[in-house]
Amino acid sequence: MAGNENVQVNTEATEVKEAAVPEKAVPKAPRIGKRKSTVQLQINFITLIPILLMGVLFALIGMEMFQSSAIEEMFNLLRGTAVMASEHFSNPEGNLHLEGGELIFDDERISDEQYYLDRIKAAYNIEVSIIYGNNRILTTLKDESGKSMKGTVVADSRIVTEVFKGNIVSTQENMIARERYLCVYVPLLGRNNICGMIEATISLRQFHQTNMRFYIYIILLTLLTAGITFLMISFFSRGLIRRLAVIRDYLEELVTKQTAEQEMNPLVYRHNDEIATLANHATSIATSLKNVMGSDPLTGLYNRRAGRQHLKELWEHSHKDYTVFSIVIGDLDFFKNVNDQYGHDVGDSVLTGVADILKKHTENDAFAVRWGGEEFLMGFTAARDETYEIVKSISKDIKRQTFFSSDRKPFHMSMTFGIASFAGQENIDDVIKLADNNLYEGKRKGRDCIVS
Ligand code: GH3
Ligand code: MG
Ligand code: MG
Repeated sequence: MAGNENVQVNTEATEVKEAAVPEKAVPKAPRIGKRKSTVQLQINFITLIPILLMGVLFALIGMEMFQSSAIEEMFNLLRGTAVMASEHFSNPEGNLHLEGGELIFDDERISDEQYYLDRIKAAYNIEVSIIYGNNRILTTLKDESGKSMKGTVVADSRIVTEVFKGNIVSTQENMIARERYLCVYVPLLGRNNICGMIEATISLRQFHQTNMRFYIYIILLTLLTAGITFLMISFFSRGLIRRLAVIRDYLEELVTKQTAEQEMNPLVYRHNDEIATLANHATSIATSLKNVMGSDPLTGLYNRRAGRQHLKELWEHSHKDYTVFSIVIGDLDFFKNVNDQYGHDVGDSVLTGVADILKKHTENDAFAVRWGGEEFLMGFTAARDETYEIVKSISKDIKRQTFFSSDRKPFHMSMTFGIASFAGQENIDDVIKLADNNLYEGKRKGRDCIVS
């Protein structure tokens, strides 16, 4: 029987070596960029749309506000220019008058005043016309082919009517040569009261062109603000998602390997929020799972799987700190007879009773494992002689324990032990093998003994 166990031990030996490689890896913060985060995509999506809508709205409102104040400014300029020109040409003494079909200003022909209008245009980049009656007598306006628009009439007669009542008219509606203009008309005084008007104007196209860089500036500013807002939201949400990804990876490891070898990355506890609570729950689940997975349901001792882990730690600890350790394997003698004579349930109660004794003796710096059916393994951070003494008292306690059959018939059990202490073996399995061989030797010798 011990020989059979040797075969098992050898098979498990590879497990220990394999598990030894990545142990206690430093937890790394998962890089969410590596895996597509749909939460990140959702956040990007739900923030991008309102940001874009807001951006468009702000840009439109900004441009509208800028445009209305720019138009206002432009009208002021047009009005100032027209009034200035009107004062230049108007004369209550009636110097501006028709004489033989020719319009005369200060004894000069009005056409000699073109230079004056051209200077205004050069200075303010606005078009100025002198209108006598409803005709442009002098103008800086030119049509598409570059021909002076001298002689053309003001299209909207309502404007003329209004100005001849003595009012200044400002309008955005007037069309000159099929183009929309911002226009200001100021009355012009002649010998017989109002004789015409000064027209100061700029085409809307030209007005928009001069303002274009402001529009572009508003759009760029809006884009920049929207971009920065988006980046900030994205940056902060990345932090949240990175913490969620830590928990995701931790749980993923738990699901796939049924154990969490890595510690939870402290990043998740950066803020005391729902994510930190989630992380706490995840570690609680891991701990419970570890307990359930690592313990034997009948005896409550470590099962073979958890026992392997403890053996590995015992080995590593001993190699790190140069401490001694011993491994003991105990097997109940003639246990099969208990099952055969009293039934399986009584057999189970024997296993539980023995396990309780082993627990009691392995409370400090030691551990006990249900290694097989009625076979137990113990690890001690003690040298051979000290371990021998502990095992002696375990053996004594087991033999002293009275078990009862279902019809209250008392009986006693004994256990055979094999001890192996670390003495330069190459790996933990060589130590286990030695303990197992010693146990086999004990069985061969007649049982109820300790072989070391
Ligand atoms: P030896 O002194 O050579 O060890 O003899 P043994 O009878 O103790 O050993 P053997 O290997 O012949 O029998 C072990 C028995 O332990 C066989 C199996 O049915 C029983 N057993 C294993 N696991 C359990 C268990 O969980 N409960 C019960 N009641 N019996 C178990
Ligand atoms: Mg046995
Ligand atoms: Mg056995």
